[in-house]
Amino acid sequence: MKRGLVVQKFGGSSVANVQRIQNVAKRVAGYRKKGYDLVVVVSALGDTTDELIALSERINKNPSEREMDMLLSTGEQASSALLAMAIHKLGYDAISLTGAQVGIITDMQHTKAKIVNISADKIKEELKNGKIVIVAGFQGMTPNHDITTLGRGGSDLTAVALAKTLNADICEIYTDVNGVYTADPRIEPKAKKLSSITFDEMLEMASLGAQVMQSRSIEVAKKFNVTIHVRSSFNKKPGTIICKEVKRMEEFVISGVTLNKNEAKITICNVPDKPGLAAKIFKEVSGGGINVDMIVQNVSHTRQTDISFTVNRSQAVKAVRLTKKIAQKVGAGLVLKDEDIARISIVGVGMKSHPGVAARMFEALAKHGINIEMISTSDISISCIIKKRFGEKAVRALHSKFGLS
Ligand code: ASP
Ligand code: MG
Repeated sequence: MKRGLVVQKFGGSSVANVQRIQNVAKRVAGYRKKGYDLVVVVSALGDTTDELIALSERINKNPSEREMDMLLSTGEQASSALLAMAIHKLGYDAISLTGAQVGIITDMQHTKAKIVNISADKIKEELKNGKIVIVAGFQGMTPNHDITTLGRGGSDLTAVALAKTLNADICEIYTDVNGVYTADPRIEPKAKKLSSITFDEMLEMASLGAQVMQSRSIEVAKKFNVTIHVRSSFNKKPGTIICKEVKRMEEFVISGVTLNKNEAKITICNVPDKPGLAAKIFKEVSGGGINVDMIVQNVSHTRQTDISFTVNRSQAVKAVRLTKKIAQKVGAGLVLKDEDIARISIVGVGMKSHPGVAARMFEALAKHGINIEMISTSDISISCIIKKRFGEKAVRALHSKFGLS
């Protein structure tokens, strides 16, 4: 019986060794037996990508990005072939294909390429031949036939983009946790798995530091309304459905608490209070390819003001260099960098209909003696910058304050 098309993606930890690859093969074969057509996207085995990066650094500290993509794409090529072999062993027909072979065409931004088009003819043909199609995740090809990769965690994007192109019935993302949780269970043991979450909430969670799926893949899923099921490859339990709208019996004010310890705060002191200076400063910073996250500027009483902003820690040194340069030009004072910070956030569509959420958040932090250094809000999230050492405590405090425990 024909059952429809399923796209499944297995992350690195789900194919980390021989036994796990065999388990994935069994799961895939099980779906096949039930009559599904299958397109299976795989990540590289375990920590392969990190290992390849480390290896390249020993050869050349500043490698060409094109060659980096040639190197990193091999990780997924290997795992796709190994999975096909494991499926053959179980007596099923399967074929592995690279991103280039399935026609994933990208732009030329090596190591973080964007998909511009997918011609899935080859996949459709192989499906018609009755094959299980295994696709090497995280990669594509430029119109000039150069291999590209889609940014870290990019196999998620491959899976979502293929699900959209092939109009799949489900897109399952298999990982090493049971789904998306109300908080990181390693920090808050009382965290609960969410049965469903909206694209918007997931986007906030992903960008705020919940390492479940690549943000870009959620953006694409939202844009094309691709429903995703995130679940564990180690058991059969249902995971979390990520979709446009969720109907919950009871509306919780917030859906989750996240912690991000990967930011640094940069402060420019004594910026003259004149129109156009903020524009100049952030133009310089963004011109260096740096993504600024939160920004805070105080009111000035002295015709001078401090401006603080946060960036990813990996970009902090560069951000300081650029900021110092522009500070000097505009007659501002010292530039300070603080890496001893954490960003604590609450996320939830329920916020839109519940007043006083921010006050409750600040109250919970105050009760634990946690000082707030910066605040930013969106429609469905509130974030505070606090001292790093209070991060875990803040997660637990907010988790219980909002009744998630
Ligand atoms: N192997 C790549 C990475 O580790 C892509 C992926 O896992 O999705 O970033
Ligand atoms: Mg990986």
